[in-house]
Amino acid sequence: MAKKQKICIVVASVIAIICIALMSVLLLTGGVSITGDGMYLKAFKAAAKNADEISMEINYKNADHTLTVSQTTEYTNRTGGELTEIFFHTYANAYNIESDFPPVSLSDQATAYPNGLSDGYLNIIDQIKMDGTAGMFQYENKDKTILKVLLPTPLKEGKTAEIYIKYRITLANVAHRLGFVGNTINLGSFYPVPAVFENGEWQVHEYSSNGDPFYNEIFNFDVEIETDTPFIIAHSGTSEEKTAEATREKHITASAIRDFAIVMSTDFKVLSAKSGDAMVNYFYILDKNPEASLKAAVDSVKTFSKTFCAYPYASLAVVETPFLHGGMEYGALVYISNAVSEPAEYERVIVHEIAHQWWFGIVGNDQTRTAWIDEGLAEYSCFVFYKLNPEYKSYDAKKTIENLQNNIVAYQKIVSGVNGEFDRSMSRDINEFNTPLEYVLATYSRGMLLFYNLSEIASFEKLNSGLSSFAKTNAFKFGTRENLVKALEKSCGTKLETYFEGWVSGASA
Ligand SMILES: [Zn+2]
Repeated sequence: MAKKQKICIVVASVIAIICIALMSVLLLTGGVSITGDGMYLKAFKAAAKNADEISMEINYKNADHTLTVSQTTEYTNRTGGELTEIFFHTYANAYNIESDFPPVSLSDQATAYPNGLSDGYLNIIDQIKMDGTAGMFQYENKDKTILKVLLPTPLKEGKTAEIYIKYRITLANVAHRLGFVGNTINLGSFYPVPAVFENGEWQVHEYSSNGDPFYNEIFNFDVEIETDTPFIIAHSGTSEEKTAEATREKHITASAIRDFAIVMSTDFKVLSAKSGDAMVNYFYILDKNPEASLKAAVDSVKTFSKTFCAYPYASLAVVETPFLHGGMEYGALVYISNAVSEPAEYERVIVHEIAHQWWFGIVGNDQTRTAWIDEGLAEYSCFVFYKLNPEYKSYDAKKTIENLQNNIVAYQKIVSGVNGEFDRSMSRDINEFNTPLEYVLATYSRGMLLFYNLSEIASFEKLNSGLSSFAKTNAFKFGTRENLVKALEKSCGTKLETYFEGWVSGASA
């Protein structure tokens, strides 16, 4: 920073006008390098300034596990044409026990529902309005997870409308993204969220018990929550109220995040520590070694900030909670399942979920169709974390790679024996994988191997430098295979499309 300013002064003595221009750029970028973190931090500020806002007034009744929400979504038409309708995802309806695409697969039901099958759903309880005028709505699928709002007046390109929706959510008794178990309430993917408009159409998708069926833009959030019971409340974003104190109300704001979540419990204990500028808050109940978990979280933020790009948010909530799978990522908040009892595995889940703050969060992607990008990169980031932090001894990279390869070969043998073929392709719709294991092997395992092998071929440093530029260039937008390949080709100094095609199509081992 200082170096650039000195150069600027020298230039000023020669051509004053150029210096003024340079100084303006430096001021705009906070006085740091305009090609590195400076541009990226500028992108964060711009994203926070330009993102649409979702504001919610939430009233939670623990007595009957219902959530009544008045939501206003400030939606700007950036589709390139006039809009007469806006599509939202209403994921909360997937928890209806009649759903064709439920969050929990048949084989996981006994584990996920502690007291037997339980129903969850969302009811719209007032007229949907656009700028105060009532509009019509209809669900576009049987499961009612895709909502079409018909606008009372067309919304012109570049114009902003306020869409008001009031709804009540009944929570299922389930250890999942949205639901309650005992005294802990998971509020993830609960609110109606505008679908992405891309290639001339709304990118809508059925829910899935495979992976994370989401594809969301960045939003700002302003949320007020009130409850009938004092809870310790973990949340995306920041609030003025004390983190570790039980409360009946909280006002939360979050800037430029992909997905907003809250987890509340009467039983949480909290440990906090700074990682760079961010406050990492660890909420736990059962963890016998919370200091170690908090340290792994703090070190993850540090490592990925240094390797890829700075963590841009003021806080990160790491939450131990009842959850069917290992963990789940939200904007500035992650779930870590309290069912992961093995300490080394628990630590690895913390690292993986925090890596998603970069791969899903800062750089978004269509998780319904290219899950290998965020899952492959989150798995590869675990390898990066353990390689750069040798004091953590629980991860054996060589053994991990061997296990991944062996699992793929073993699965291939079994499947080939049954129906004679095994589809190893990675870019598939999440509902097109034949089994949950096939999904995991294609996206996590083969995704990890794709990036790990590249780190061996091109070098660990070159790959990470390419991922850093991929992150900075696509921050607060979406990362695609094309711009990933482009960034890595530049850093690795070689053509990579054939390499990627081999892996993604399933042709390469
Ligand atoms: Zn993941």
